[in-house]
Amino acid sequence: MSKGLSNKMIAIELGIGYQTTKNYVSSILGKMEAGNRAHAVALAKELEVNVKVNMSIKSLDLDKEDLRALLQAIRDCEMSTFPEKKIYVSVEAPDMSSADMTDVLKSIKPPYDYGPVIYKYKGKEKACPTCGKPNPLDVSRCIHCGATLR
Ligand SMILES: [Zn+2]
Repeated sequence: MSKGLSNKMIAIELGIGYQTTKNYVSSILGKMEAGNRAHAVALAKELEVNVKVNMSIKSLDLDKEDLRALLQAIRDCEMSTFPEKKIYVSVEAPDMSSADMTDVLKSIKPPYDYGPVIYKYKGKEKACPTCGKPNPLDVSRCIHCGATLR
């Protein structure tokens, strides 16, 4: 619709039926409470659609330099693919000191414009029966020794 295509052209482009396209378009207009297609396109541009992505990386094998390299690789990918987007990264590394984590985050180029925000993992943890070290509640294997947790 944002390309100004007619229902017939949308149907051809998407490989769906003409009647299906018509139904979708009127359903979209209804849901957006838009009077017509141009209005719907204008509303959509105003709203944009934001998606929250949580990416969880768990590894027993990453040291400080590895983590730095991994975050830099993610940053490089962001910059080449979404240079205009604001992406927030949150890192939870219970075994790393705040000072080390700050070093890692400050070394990322280009820097994140909100600066490093360190969340120290606290409370809400269960002790590993094998090594005795604390683990987040949502893991089923010890993040320190790999033992199965209850
Ligand atoms: Zn353990």
